[in-house]
This record gives sequence, structure tokens and C-alpha cells, in this order.
Amino acid sequence: MGPYELLKAGLSDIFGECPDETVESFRRLTEYMTEYNKKVNLTRITEPRDVVRLHYLDCAAIFTAVDITSGASVIDVGTGAGFPGLVMKILRPDIRLCLLDSSNKRIDYLKSAADMLSLSGIDFVHGRAEELSRESAYRDSFDFAVSRAVAALPVLCELCMPFVRVGGRFVSLKGSGAHDEAKSAGSAVRLLGGEGARVVPVTIPGGDESHHLVEIKKSRPTPARFPRKNAVIKKSPL
Ligand code: SAM
Repeated sequence: MGPYELLKAGLSDIFGECPDETVESFRRLTEYMTEYNKKVNLTRITEPRDVVRLHYLDCAAIFTAVDITSGASVIDVGTGAGFPGLVMKILRPDIRLCLLDSSNKRIDYLKSAADMLSLSGIDFVHGRAEELSRESAYRDSFDFAVSRAVAALPVLCELCMPFVRVGGRFVSLKGSGAHDEAKSAGSAVRLLGGEGARVVPVTIPGGDESHHLVEIKKSRPTPARFPRKNAVIKKSPL
């Protein structure tokens, strides 16, 4: 099966169907990202089959385990080349998306990629999570915060949970160590206003990687003392 047949089959499994236009958008995105990657470091994954599996289908797996309601607001913290946020937006144009990254070059890439795909309803933000979540417009306000490959879960909780509204969810995409990470993040989750951590295994078609989603519900506002400064978060994770 070619990469885009695999993509169509994988997305059809998740959504019940996958229009050809969606596959075409992802094919154009691969071309665009691979070309842009020659001048700005976006990703080490460039073979179309790997891009399809390890970027697109991996990120799309969020929809297998988490109920992202229609029109939900979603912030992708440390989005890089748009994973998982841009993939979510292509698949679900109804979401209101904020793509956040501390690299302005990646934010510029994301603006041009979204423009190329005629995607609207995206807020592109260059900044650091631990600073932005102190601003009232961003604090305790998103239905979902999502993140992949940014930090270990105790650190990531402090970067992401302040953005989530009470009743919302923080969803992180993790590898084989997800259960251990979830255990080690127990006190961070409680301190930041969260409640438990649900670990869900996900299967990526065409391979046997062990990937997981970790979903944390926010049940109380995050105390004002969080997030701490970057150096403190790194030195003494909660
Ligand atoms: N999420 C993408 C993925 O899965 O391919 C990118 C992962 S990349 C390894 C980590 C990204 O997080 C980088 O683009 C980096 O600039 C960004 N980042 C790291 N710490 C951050 C912070 N505190 N606030 C915002 N972005 C951050």
C-alpha cells in the first residue's frame, strides 16, 4: 500500500470516511514541509510513508480516544511543524486552534503552510508557554491543550495545564513510557488543578510502535503560583 492509500485507510478507520480532498491536503503539506525543511529545521521525518504514519496518523489518533467537541478551542503547546495541531485542524476545520511555539521560524512556516492550505481560524503565537499562560486571555480558557514531544509529563503539565479551562482536558501524545510518566506526574496533576490521568494505547497502521495518549481532566483553576519560571520548572519538576 502506498503512503497516501495508507493514510486514507487509517483516516477512514477513525472517521468512517476520508474524502480525497483531505488526502490531497496532506499530500501537499508533505511536499511543502519537505521543501521548507531544506531551509528551516522542521522535522527529521521526511520519507512520505514515515510522514504519513509518524506525523499524520499518530496525531489523528487523538480523535480515536478523546471527544473533541464541535467548535472546541484547542491550544497546541510547542507545536513545531504543526503536530498535532495542524493535523487536527485539517481533519476538523471546526476547531478554534492556537498554535504556540517558542521558535519564530516555525511559526512563520506554520502561517505559510496554513495559507497554502487555505485554513482559517488559527491563532499563530510566538512565545513561551510558561509566560503566555500568565496572560488573562490565555489562562484557564481553552477546552483542550494538546502537546507532543516537548517535555517529560511532570514538566509538560506545568506548561500546559494553566491554559485549560475548568472542565477541559490536557492531552499529551506519548511513547512507550506513558504509564511511568503518568505515575511520575501524579503530584504535578493534583497541584495544577487536574484530576487523574487516563492512559490510552493507540495503534498506528503499518507498524508496531507503542504510542499512547495521556488525558488529564482539569477540575479546579490552576493556582496563581504556577507556572513557575522556566529555570525553576526544569530544575525542580513538580
Ligand atoms: N510538537 C511537535 C512535534 O511533535 O513534532 C514539535 C516537537 S519539538 C521536539 C519541540 C517544540 O517545542 C520546538 O518547536 C520548541 O521550539 C517548542 N518549545 C519547547 N519549549 C517550549 C515552551 N516552553 N514554550 C513554547 N514552545 C516550546
